[in-house]
Amino acid sequence: MSSYDVVIIGGGVGAGYLVKEVLAKANSPDTSSPTLCVVSSDPSLLPPMERPAVSKGSMLADKPFLRNPSGNADKFPYVKSASGEPMTPEFYESTPNLTLLSNTTATSIDFENKTVSLNTNEIISYNKLILATGSRARIINGCGAEGSTWDELHSTDLDPQHQITDKRKWGFGSPHTLRDVGDSEKLVSAMTRVEDDDQETCYWPVVIVGGGFVAMEAAAVIASKCEDLHVTVVLNNDHFLGGDGGVFNKEMSEFYERQLSQRFGVRFARNYTVTGLWDKEETGKFCSLDGPAMDLKKTRERQFDTCPKQFTECRGVILDGVDEADKGIRLPARFVVFGVGAKPNSEFLGESLDKTSSGHVKVDGNCQTSQSDVYAIGDVAAMVGEDGTTTTNAHVDAARKMAAHVAGSIVEEQQIPYNITPYFYSFVMGLNQSWKFYGKCDSSCTIVTIGLSDWEATETPGELTWGAFYVNADNVIVGVLLNNGTKEMNEQLPRVVEAGAVVINCKKLKKCELQEVLDDPHLLTPPELGLGEFHAESDLDEVNEVFSQYEKEVGCGFVEVAVVAELMQALGADWDGVELKDAIAALDESGCGFITKDNFVNWWLS
Ligand SMILES: Cc1cc2nc3c(=O)[nH]c(=O)nc-3n(C[C@H](O)[C@H](O)[C@H](O)COP(=O)(O)OP(=O)(O)OC[C@H]3O[C@@H](n4cnc5c(N)ncnc54)[C@H](O)[C@@H]3O)c2cc1C
Repeated sequence: MSSYDVVIIGGGVGAGYLVKEVLAKANSPDTSSPTLCVVSSDPSLLPPMERPAVSKGSMLADKPFLRNPSGNADKFPYVKSASGEPMTPEFYESTPNLTLLSNTTATSIDFENKTVSLNTNEIISYNKLILATGSRARIINGCGAEGSTWDELHSTDLDPQHQITDKRKWGFGSPHTLRDVGDSEKLVSAMTRVEDDDQETCYWPVVIVGGGFVAMEAAAVIASKCEDLHVTVVLNNDHFLGGDGGVFNKEMSEFYERQLSQRFGVRFARNYTVTGLWDKEETGKFCSLDGPAMDLKKTRERQFDTCPKQFTECRGVILDGVDEADKGIRLPARFVVFGVGAKPNSEFLGESLDKTSSGHVKVDGNCQTSQSDVYAIGDVAAMVGEDGTTTTNAHVDAARKMAAHVAGSIVEEQQIPYNITPYFYSFVMGLNQSWKFYGKCDSSCTIVTIGLSDWEATETPGELTWGAFYVNADNVIVGVLLNNGTKEMNEQLPRVVEAGAVVINCKKLKKCELQEVLDDPHLLTPPELGLGEFHAESDLDEVNEVFSQYEKEVGCGFVEVAVVAELMQALGADWDGVELKDAIAALDESGCGFITKDNFVNWWLS
């Protein structure tokens, strides 16, 4: 049985960065180099890579080297070592004390005896174990192949060079997911496949199911890079990146959605749930998205009947809308891409480790699991907060930082709790735009955008820089997003959130310049109040607007004395009865019981 100081299970971002960080730390003269073993179910050509490339550069038909690493070490997105060298298969082979067991899946762990069983029937032992098994694409009701390992997903489809073994196998009628470069290879094949026998499916759109950032990136890259492909996106709510605690509000989402529609004809089907695949054998009359029933005869036999079932059975998807009349709609598809979330690869860990109900491995502030000497990092981990709640952070930055943190713990025995503040980004290829988010965002936050309102009047929206601030119920800025920010602006994001600045109100924040809030997050923090002091609204537009909410009749220009106390309270006043009586006496000198807008505004602002 082989023994290692450190065993890492997983071959993705977390594993790659752990190797990088351990090697960097172990090179220091004060530490000794631990023996390190990476167990990865990915093929030997494919050591840990930067996964975000899968939905970006790897989807470009003319850049196959971004999907197939052989002979392309300088271009393939390998994780790089601390000195900037791509960590290729040769790097793993030639580095002392480093072993990469590719094509190898960990099947179970004996925590008591500190051993890992592998699908090769080998057992290896560890001193420290790091779980970095990530997650796999979620599948709706059997729409596609479910698998956590390369072998389960691609063994019959791709040869060892990641080339599709039989080109006829891919293209029309395939449900796809997007998790690794094998998936992008298949998708590119589907995107670029031209059928010359005039099948009806040629004219059907590519259907993308999902409203997260993988779906958004996939829609943009497919629609922009393949002129003849129409794209329809099915959203189960009303906008991209929305839903409970979503990072985009409708206005932000529209910025992207409208550009996709206007520039590339992308169509959106909102508030629909996909209930299953539309079987290719099914014929008859069906309701379509456009209303009237469409009559479809059986699709002619296709060329690829030898390929796996999940890649031939699909004629499109079946949708349920909100109304009873909208159930069972058939949406024909040239092929379908599902981007509907992910689930953690943790089943093989059994019951001896504390997990959340969704299967994430619970870790403390040091990424330690409930078993001693066992850590979990990246997408498979859920951090347990002081109040017992758990948070997942399925983004590349978290996987990298957790890896660096654990490397510090195991090589240098540091115990500084990991900073959980999320940071993530998306690059929407095709629109050539990117956004970066730092901080927290949940359903209690008000999202205040700056610089976005008049984007449609801009000739070059792609060059527009705008921001969004996430203000919690206590009026504190807890998150910030920048679209097309400069490097300098992006570097300001952590500082803006860490300032913990209170804003006096969100309307005022909206009126600020983006750069001034980035430079000084406390710009709108109200001063400390003395006894009997209050923050009175001093913005003319705001005073006018609040006044009109209390007018006797809409637009009449006056309010009754009876509502003045409430009106002043809405503007920030916190007066006692005597002060209020004096104010009313000054405002309604004639005692008629009414106060005009001009009179009130002049008095209030003076
Ligand atoms: C298409 C796509 C685009 C993305 N784009 C962005 C982006 O733009 N910005 C961003 O912030 N985040 C992005 N992410 C998220 C980011 O890539 C992940 O958060 C990150 O990869 C997580 O790293 P990980 O090591 O936990 O898991 P992964 O990188 O998924 O690696 C898990 C590895 O474990 C292996 N494995 C699983 N089970 C076993 C087992 N039993 N034995 C051995 N090996 C096993 C898998 O084969 C895989 O190699 C994207 C994700 C995807 C899928």
